[in-house]
Amino acid sequence: MATGSINVSVENIFPLIKKFLYSDHEIFLRELISNATDATLKLKHLTSIGEVKVEYGNPLIEIKVDKDKKQLHIIDQGIGMTAEEVEKYINQVAFSGAEEFLEKYKDSAKDSGIIGHFGLGFYSAFMVADKVEIITKSYKDEPAAHWICDGSPTYSIEEHDKTERGTEIILHIGEDDTEFLEDGRINELLVKYNKFMPVSIKFGTKTETLPKPEDAKEEDPAPTQEVDNIINNPNPAWTKQPADLKDEDYKGFYRELYPMQFEEPLFNIHLNVDYPFNLTGILYFPKLGQDMNMQKDKIQLYQNQVFVTDNVEGIVPEFLTMLRGVIDSPDIPLNVSRSYLQADGNVKKISSYITRKVADKLSSMFKNNREDLEQKWNDIKIVIEYGMLSEEKFFEKADKFALYPTVDGSFFTFEELQEKIKDSQTDKDGKLVLLYASNKDEQHSYISAAKDKGYEVLLLDSPIVSHLIQKLETSKENISFARVDGDHIDNLIKKDEETISKLSDEEKETLKTDLEKVVPKETYTVQLEAMDSNASPFMITQPEFMRRMKEMQQTGGGGMNMFGNMPEMYNLIINTNHELIGQIAATKTDKKKERLIKQSLDLARLSQNLLKGEELTDFIKRSYDMIK
Ligand code: ADP
Repeated sequence: MATGSINVSVENIFPLIKKFLYSDHEIFLRELISNATDATLKLKHLTSIGEVKVEYGNPLIEIKVDKDKKQLHIIDQGIGMTAEEVEKYINQVAFSGAEEFLEKYKDSAKDSGIIGHFGLGFYSAFMVADKVEIITKSYKDEPAAHWICDGSPTYSIEEHDKTERGTEIILHIGEDDTEFLEDGRINELLVKYNKFMPVSIKFGTKTETLPKPEDAKEEDPAPTQEVDNIINNPNPAWTKQPADLKDEDYKGFYRELYPMQFEEPLFNIHLNVDYPFNLTGILYFPKLGQDMNMQKDKIQLYQNQVFVTDNVEGIVPEFLTMLRGVIDSPDIPLNVSRSYLQADGNVKKISSYITRKVADKLSSMFKNNREDLEQKWNDIKIVIEYGMLSEEKFFEKADKFALYPTVDGSFFTFEELQEKIKDSQTDKDGKLVLLYASNKDEQHSYISAAKDKGYEVLLLDSPIVSHLIQKLETSKENISFARVDGDHIDNLIKKDEETISKLSDEEKETLKTDLEKVVPKETYTVQLEAMDSNASPFMITQPEFMRRMKEMQQTGGGGMNMFGNMPEMYNLIINTNHELIGQIAATKTDKKKERLIKQSLDLARLSQNLLKGEELTDFIKRSYDMIK
């Protein structure tokens, strides 16, 4: 037996490893299985090029728990190591790697979330084990070696009688980490980190039911057999060629990724590049709701089929973090902080590649199957709108396929919309006025008034639409958006003829004074307008600008909370051509006039959902009194 001292300058590296990344102790298993996988794939490579003349077969990596002996075993059938190689790769290479890693990152580890995803390699075993053994037999014709290290810088190495090729790592789990002797915990880790690793991983056995033999009787139980319990799918869909996959395969893989998710994805994008960086993956567009934060962090990041994290912030542009799926790239540096990550050239390229692929997919859906895109639009628009707001490059592309639904369920691109309304919806300066509603029920009366006049009304109801409107108004010339209840449409859109007022200027003056006596001026600005006699007599509108600014502040952006604190202000538009207004103007007694104005104002408020609480109770009581 030989003993030796590991060649390190830091005597206390083990306590450091133990303390390091306390919450991330669990990554040791991923690290050891990654090594076992590498060793297996190396052997595969050597046999494929004829370097090694052994039967590669169908190798497994096996994980075994021995609870009584407090041991965890990781066994592979890979390339193995000779005693000399253990000396070199474990005592020298691995150790100095671990030392370097700790030196470099022990200070920065706390403030960067991603650093924990970078492994310490073999020595992470000491995060959970008091003693580690390696029993390994190389594919070369040399005796097996047995290495033991109890966590101090000294180790022993001797020959072993192991005859099968490969490596067995035995961890003597420490007092503080006995959770890693529980089958359930190990299973959980294997599913989390190794679900798609390229070499089959066995953990225990399971009972499989076999088909009954033909001559079996009805009451005979079906035969069963014990089979290896294989944790992973070594050939996940993203590693295959798009041409070899059908729609069903993509959906099947989605279910593999999200077993608890019952809704099917709407469509997917297969990512596959090898220059100037390596990246594969599949992104799915799920049915998205209105809450943007709820749906984040569902994309999983892998490196060569090893799970790294499900927080892809910084790697995928923010607006695409609402998608689902997998990204696999060996070119994403993980041993760095997030701020560094965002500045990394490769990561930037990856991020813009993904953005481009998403835009291309949507664009081809628009060109080749517009009906399908229209059908899915309302479930995905939040991502696209968010992308248009946050990524200029995406805006330029999306502007050609972004759809604007109308209240009647038709869809137009911006260009089509401009063409459609260019003769009918302009204001007095010749600007196009795009009318929109945000809620079909609440704005029903305004929508139908606009439709009666033959105007097109869009239905823009996503939570960030006010930001998008603002963006469109500034990036396009000669257009403005107006919500149907924002101002009276007759004031917005140029008419061919002026409507003549039925009231004289003098009558209007008196009426205005009378109205202002009753209508609270902190809330309403009274405006008299000559409109169609069948348009509403009293109408409440809220100025577009103020409302939009408030909405934008509520959904983030805008810095100061200037508009949010402003009191609600409305316009009260009085249609001087309506019969009722004529009647009010002609009413002799002040008391009756006041009652008519109050009742009309309340009706207008009621139609805008502004009458609540005690005021609503009073209104209803007053209305009953009037009709009894
Ligand atoms: P890394 O894997 O990043 O090189 P590690 O510390 O994990 O660093 O391992 C150091 C070296 O030890 C590996 O490069 C490999 O040569 C050798 N090694 C580790 N585990 C195994 C194994 N299961 N089979 C064969 N060689 C191994």
